[in-house]
Amino acid sequence: MADGYGSAITQPVQLLVVEDDDDIADPLIEGLVLEGFAPTRARTGAEAIESVGRAGFVLLDLGLPDLDGGEVCRRIRMSTDVPIIVVTARDDELDRVRLLEIGADDYVIKPFGFRELVARIRAVLRRLDRCEASVELIQDIGGIRIDRRSRRVTSDAGQVELTPKEFDLLAFLTEEPGTVRTREEIISKVWDEHWWGPTNTLDVHIASLRRKLGDPGAITTLRGVGYRYDAQ
Ligand code: CA
Repeated sequence: MADGYGSAITQPVQLLVVEDDDDIADPLIEGLVLEGFAPTRARTGAEAIESVGRAGFVLLDLGLPDLDGGEVCRRIRMSTDVPIIVVTARDDELDRVRLLEIGADDYVIKPFGFRELVARIRAVLRRLDRCEASVELIQDIGGIRIDRRSRRVTSDAGQVELTPKEFDLLAFLTEEPGTVRTREEIISKVWDEHWWGPTNTLDVHIASLRRKLGDPGAITTLRGVGYRYDAQ
């Protein structure tokens, strides 16, 4: 992938910058244009939710004048899988975990360097590219069907409601059933190579996944090593 271009299409990535502060947004947008992206701007949470349908990427400031940024993120995630990087001034662990759980793909903490931000945007795009290019798009395994295009999981009982991270985790573990995935490998593939949040985040997601799939034996824990998807 070159610059701000997605590999699947040759159009520059439409990047929605949600930021109320002109002093931050103006130079950011200028820089993003130079990097080959096609940025647009929303000044409020309401504006962001309204215009997100056209965006291929969202950069979301949490300190917005109308709505809480976390709420905006959650609402965007209800309607689309568009990648979201959250920009936050709140440097507190709980907040970061919550952001990742409500569907942000990554976050940067203010004040951030422009180069770091662009590197993170590209890392998210690369990761999504890899997901799309991966193994079977529709996979029947362990009594469930995983559809990687629509990011849906269904069982005999109907659709299994997963959070975006739970889906990514399941999709990764089932890429090669019976193969042990180490904790480090899972964290770097499903979260981010720079992830340094609480170490039990992965276990919490696994527990939730087991509960939702209704098959506690599908995922085997290898204590201190990682996890393995075992259902056939
Ligand atoms: Ca702001």
